[in-house]
Amino acid sequence: MEPFLTRHIGPTESDRESMLSALGVGSLDALTDAAVPRAIQVEGGLDLAPAVSEAQVQADLTRMAALNNPLRSMIGQGYHGTITPPVIRRNLLENPAWYTAYTPYQPEISQGRLEMLLTFQTLVADLTGLPTSGASLLDEGTAVAEAVGVARRSQRKGSVVLVDAGILDQSLAVMRTRALALDIEVVVTDDLVAGLQRHDCFAVVVQTPAADGSVRDLDELRTIAAKAHENNALVIAAADLLALTLLPAPAEWGADIAVGSTQRLGVPLFYGGPHAGYIAVGSGMERQMPGRLVGLSKDRNGTPALRLALQTREQHIRREKATSNICTAQVLLAVTAAAYAVYHGPEGLRAIAGEVARKARRLAAAIVAGGGELVSDRFFDTITVKVQDAPLVVREARAKGVHLWALEEDLVSISVGEDVTEDELAAVASLFSAHLGEAEHGSLGQPERETPYLTHPVFHSYRSETQMMRYLRALSDRDFALDRGMIPLGSCTMKLNPAASMEPISYPGFANLHPFVPLEDARGYTEMIGRLEAQLCEITGYDRVSLQPNSGAQGEFAGLMAVRSYHRARGEEHRTVCLIPASAHGTNAASAAMAGMDVVVVKTAPDGTVDFDDLEAKIAKHAEKLSVIMITYPSTHGVYEARVAELCGKVHEAGGQVYIDGANMNALVGLAQPGRFGGDVSHLNLHKTFSIPHGGGGPGVGPVAVREHLAPYLPSHPVVRDAGPVSSYGPISAAPWGSAGVLPITYGYIAMMGPDLKLATQVAVLSANYLAKRLAERFPILYTGDAGWVAHECIVDLRPLTKETGITVDDVAKRLIDYGFHAPTMSFPVAGTLMVEPTESEPLVELDRFVDAMHAIADEAARVKAGEWPSHDNPLVNAPHTLAEVAADEWTHPYPRSAGGFPAGQDLGGISTGGRDKYWPPVARIDGAWGDRNLVCSCPPMEAYAD
Ligand SMILES: *Cc1c(COP(=O)(O)O)cnc(C)c1O
Repeated sequence: MEPFLTRHIGPTESDRESMLSALGVGSLDALTDAAVPRAIQVEGGLDLAPAVSEAQVQADLTRMAALNNPLRSMIGQGYHGTITPPVIRRNLLENPAWYTAYTPYQPEISQGRLEMLLTFQTLVADLTGLPTSGASLLDEGTAVAEAVGVARRSQRKGSVVLVDAGILDQSLAVMRTRALALDIEVVVTDDLVAGLQRHDCFAVVVQTPAADGSVRDLDELRTIAAKAHENNALVIAAADLLALTLLPAPAEWGADIAVGSTQRLGVPLFYGGPHAGYIAVGSGMERQMPGRLVGLSKDRNGTPALRLALQTREQHIRREKATSNICTAQVLLAVTAAAYAVYHGPEGLRAIAGEVARKARRLAAAIVAGGGELVSDRFFDTITVKVQDAPLVVREARAKGVHLWALEEDLVSISVGEDVTEDELAAVASLFSAHLGEAEHGSLGQPERETPYLTHPVFHSYRSETQMMRYLRALSDRDFALDRGMIPLGSCTMKLNPAASMEPISYPGFANLHPFVPLEDARGYTEMIGRLEAQLCEITGYDRVSLQPNSGAQGEFAGLMAVRSYHRARGEEHRTVCLIPASAHGTNAASAAMAGMDVVVVKTAPDGTVDFDDLEAKIAKHAEKLSVIMITYPSTHGVYEARVAELCGKVHEAGGQVYIDGANMNALVGLAQPGRFGGDVSHLNLHKTFSIPHGGGGPGVGPVAVREHLAPYLPSHPVVRDAGPVSSYGPISAAPWGSAGVLPITYGYIAMMGPDLKLATQVAVLSANYLAKRLAERFPILYTGDAGWVAHECIVDLRPLTKETGITVDDVAKRLIDYGFHAPTMSFPVAGTLMVEPTESEPLVELDRFVDAMHAIADEAARVKAGEWPSHDNPLVNAPHTLAEVAADEWTHPYPRSAGGFPAGQDLGGISTGGRDKYWPPVARIDGAWGDRNLVCSCPPMEAYAD
């Protein structure tokens, strides 16, 4: 079998030779030697185990999966047993047409996943009764914390948030981490009504059902909401969506915001993640919402079309004033939950919830009949039983193949999921010397829900597997993902997600494990996590790594919290200034604001590097208060800056720490280590450099890596103490190891590449320089390093073209769709430019096809300039062209249909998404602003389709 290396790296050895000779360089080593500053280059290769084959890595992961012991999880606590319908697992979760897509910033090529996300929003809005839902958040814990943030921004009163004692431990702890940095006081009480009298709070958080499973009386909830509103405080409900198919919606009893997890809607436990969190808000709060919002708009022909709405709220634009630092979220998982609701429909979901509740009541009846005592008789799926010795009962249950939860020393919680069998229920009953029968005990505790939900046709049309399979296929066919062609998005590293390391995430040992099982039942994960941490330390040159952050931006927040803790521990809490270069990614500033820091911008010099004079001035000005500088290396301009070590030295001299954003690690692996050339802390994006797929906008893993002095301040976990240091401020994410379920992908990738990871980096740099050189024949390349080389990406400057011909960066990006490409990153970090990152995985033919398309586009622009085509009617401003337009009986444009729809010809050789294998966008260019003026963020109800 060929080594994996030759599967992962696109250009063959002879391709690489010809690319090198096009660049006039003798060898890969010569190229990277010239491009990477000598001062930061590492000596020797990576000290990693030799590369193994695909078969070997799968055998190794199979062994580790078998070391995990999922049993039947009846632990609950925010993570519930569920059954992923096989049609969804196979055609969506395990389908590269879905999982290799990028965040839907180019809406014309993303209509499939945008439709499923609109369905997700409709699902959440219907079940919570609140009009506007986003898509989606990172987990339930961060969703609660984000909701508190929304309430604070919209109420602007006081600093106290009152929290129900029934809240999940991990949600409380994540909220506390956020509160710490923002000086919010978290008051926990089991008497919210009394609490509202005593405290002048801006929000109340109610968990329903509570962590012990109990459901509050509806009148009590109404009283809490009324009291809160009297006091001008908002009510946040942390609610279980499956329970809401039976219970009144939070909006019905007065909640203003609802949050939670959508995991139990068909998403595997995955040892804690990835899962999609949700948030829904009342009207008037849409613009305050964190995360992404999908909304309806129309294309230039008036056809309804979807796109991300209100992007002006996002960190990319508002930076430290943004509503959140969320960039990568959990799109693939939100899409999975939506598909689960589509497939089951409202009756199906109600039936699943009813069955779960009935099983819980039968178990309760058995236990009560056997003399057991429940904490509450009002519950949905979880009962809590008073016992002498809860850990003992949990151990006995384990011996019978079931994981239960010791809520306290004398309380055992038993949570019934969709996947629990009769035998398992009977086994649990037997622990209490009880016999399971048909009798039921207890009730939902609230009148059964009457308001309808999921009335839109999408929830009623795909009941048979055939229909569902076709629906999933139809949606994915509307989208352009890596399974069609190159996605050359600068800063995003859209490389291969190897099938050999994707498959293991579905192994039952990895997929079905609850995050709170005893560590002895998670030995496979523990081994893999330990090895992965060590590998990432070796690669980055840092001393310690935490895998908990579940996105890059969360890694930033974790890193900044470490810096904050470090200064405080040394009595320097006045160090609050965070220096950020003007060219930085928007999440940097948004994360700094979340960590309670004051952002000071450092200018960019004309050559794209950090302006050293300004840096020195800012350091001098803020020396006393300097906390940290956040830089990206290589810079967001795609260049290895020669003076990086000097820059780090200056910040250290002034008592500051150095944060190196590792999103561009694909230009460094095997060549240089941020932990050795001056960084104190970095985050990595495993969903960029280390092969985890982007999933259409998540999942992600953003490990935070630190030098030893910051190690005491890595994230910890309130439930699983082994997940972090006791000296920490707390957790960043709800789950102990964040999105643990996708770690096998990175583990497998590193194992199969071994020390040859360096070669991958070198080829990524070669490909970027090859593209830069060939594109430079027609477009200026904005920045290069001192020696004239770029790193792993390059910025193509379209401003001269725009000035000369009127053709904009938007026109070029959309025209690339007609040629069968996903556009590069637009207008980041410089407006009016495209940032191109090929990665090592793209073959030479695809690179050449891209260059040919760009050259052809330059020719088209020249014809516009020459007056051959009018400026308002030419193939560029009309791009992208839909099949419907090209095939219409009427064609009024001054260029032929073929030039509109098949600009790359209809070549029959090879694969070509511009030719024979043409990708057709389902809609024409979308008018985003129109949708922002007429905000619609859920599917219209069935009645709207009446005629
Ligand atoms: C992608 C990226 C981030 C944020 O990562 P997410 O996982 O999307 O949160 C931060 N900085 C840079 C430079 C990036 O490219």
